[in-house]
Amino acid sequence: MTGGRSRLPLPPVLMYHSISPSAEPDPHALRVHPARLDRHLGLLRRLGLRGVPLTELVRAAERGAAAGLVGLTFDDGYTDFLDHAVPVLRRHGMAGTVYAVAGLLGGTNDWDTGPRFRIMDAGQLRAVAAAGQEVGSHTLTHARLAGADPAVLAAEVGESRRVLEDVLQAEVPGFCYPYGSYDDAAADAVRAAGYDNACVTGDYEPGDRVTLPRCYVSPRDTRAHLVARLVRHSVRLRRAVARDAARPAAPVAGAGR
Ligand SMILES: [Zn+2]
Repeated sequence: MTGGRSRLPLPPVLMYHSISPSAEPDPHALRVHPARLDRHLGLLRRLGLRGVPLTELVRAAERGAAAGLVGLTFDDGYTDFLDHAVPVLRRHGMAGTVYAVAGLLGGTNDWDTGPRFRIMDAGQLRAVAAAGQEVGSHTLTHARLAGADPAVLAAEVGESRRVLEDVLQAEVPGFCYPYGSYDDAAADAVRAAGYDNACVTGDYEPGDRVTLPRCYVSPRDTRAHLVARLVRHSVRLRRAVARDAARPAAPVAGAGR
């Protein structure tokens, strides 16, 4: 949590990257098989949970209506999201947020040392939005934002939003920090650019609405692993909310705006 800003208690938010049946090497553990995603979403349904895009989750939480929801997020905007994740999501009546690297549309994940994944182009992003999924920004170049100077922050955070809004002809409310790298200046840049919410990496204690934590989902996560992640999140959330309640000076989000 940054700068004593108010906490937004949220249900768990799951973080995926590539969804693909490819058997190519995956040294960074970014690829979840579509059949595994299908099992994960089937488990959520059996638990009475529904996966939703992060902006929908945040807005539901503000209305006190987030019970039974789980956030679903997919980083980097790979073409396999359209090919393999969207059909599985739709089969389960769920949706998620895909975070696109706005300066690399139609390109590849050049920021990684590992295997190349194709990134969706403008038409594919529009198809994703038309399929009821949320498209958020993941900067222009997948930049590390902690310590970045103001001009870099303005471009990576603000310009990426303008590019995507131009592509989608719609508001882009969500942002995701590459590598989960952020500091107070980066969070301020996210607010200044007009985003509604932003998420980081890691399922540590919940933050404010522009530093929302997420649970990493590993390519090898079984349903049991996923249950453990959900339980761990709810334990941490309860503890953090109790700590806030015991400390009257610290505002608790959900109560105010
Ligand atoms: Zn990323």
